[in-house]
Amino acid sequence: MLSWSGIDFSALEIACYLCERRNLVPFNFRVTHESSTTRARLGCIQTTHGVIETPVFMPVGTQATVKTVAPHELEQLGVEIILSNTYHLYLRPGNDIVDEAGGLHKFMGWGHPILTDSGGFQVFSLGPLRTISEEGVQFRSHLDGSKHFISPEKSMEIQMDLGADIIMAFDECAPYPAERDYVQKSKDLTTRWAKRCHEAHTRTADQALFGIVQGGMYKDLRRQSALELMELDFPGYGIGGLSVGEPKDIMYEVLDDLIPIMPKDKPRYLMGVGSPDCLVEGVLRGVDMFDCVWPTRLARHGMVLTRQGNMAIRNLPFARDFTPIEEDCSCYACQNFSRGYIRHLLKANEVLGIRLTTLHNIAFLTRLMKEIREAISDDRLVEYSRDFLGIFAREK
Ligand SMILES: [Zn+2]
Repeated sequence: MLSWSGIDFSALEIACYLCERRNLVPFNFRVTHESSTTRARLGCIQTTHGVIETPVFMPVGTQATVKTVAPHELEQLGVEIILSNTYHLYLRPGNDIVDEAGGLHKFMGWGHPILTDSGGFQVFSLGPLRTISEEGVQFRSHLDGSKHFISPEKSMEIQMDLGADIIMAFDECAPYPAERDYVQKSKDLTTRWAKRCHEAHTRTADQALFGIVQGGMYKDLRRQSALELMELDFPGYGIGGLSVGEPKDIMYEVLDDLIPIMPKDKPRYLMGVGSPDCLVEGVLRGVDMFDCVWPTRLARHGMVLTRQGNMAIRNLPFARDFTPIEEDCSCYACQNFSRGYIRHLLKANEVLGIRLTTLHNIAFLTRLMKEIREAISDDRLVEYSRDFLGIFAREK
């Protein structure tokens, strides 16, 4: 129990107290240990809502909730930061409502750090429903077809209302494959938009704005993008436009080429990447932060993560399997239930089924990241990675 002026507070109460009184902690990142044989490093991000140890995986809470999991359960799993989606919260319930509620942390009952994306990726995924111009993107809502316009300035306004600890610049994510000419124009537009975001972002006391490196699979464009953004001196950098359908080896080549020129003293965030093998490979190349909907979405489709790879727990062979998903996992699902029971819940469309698979998948990744951090600290990441990747069944 922590004590202040003779009054006892739990850590959570102190977090809320800081939030209420706006006793703001400036964003800070420091590297605490560098691997001697790889580009991996240990780091620590400080925010008003708490400290994040890196490398870190951030579960995604698209609609201001990590689907089926309550905030206190995320805390129990050791989650230090979650991601939420600007596009979805802008459309529903509306950033004005979240602002009125006191910001996203209060609205969703999560006192720890939050990162919001810029809305760019979702808007570009709308395909024929959107039109891009220099000014911004016009699009129709996927919910009701209503017309909307998001510019870099609008994205900043929405994200300042939501009040996440880390927010992202509005960027254009080129598809894969794409012609060089298209990717070059898209990268140039992303740089111009990054400058506009940088100017429009005024909530700097308790919010850090990260730039996003684009440039598709063209290494020289990636390097140009990074150098252009570094002139704006963002407190951190996202690497966007990867894991968009390209083979994993191409993604790794891009990272190998790009990361050495990125600032050492700023966090590097590989966006939309979250399969266990990619987390290990990304950390080896110097990535500090990851997010992906995939592990939790997979869970809702009855797929669980194990050391050997993904396991389709809905399949018949598990009907009479009364062992846990993983013997050595300390999550609530593995400590209390069998594969056979979880399969039964999923087959019967019981909500508890997808809650249990989601809890396990988040626990799996949280534990993986913890093991990776320990391996970096002990200078044995190469051995750890070799052992892990040797067993884990990779998808190309
Ligand atoms: Zn488990």
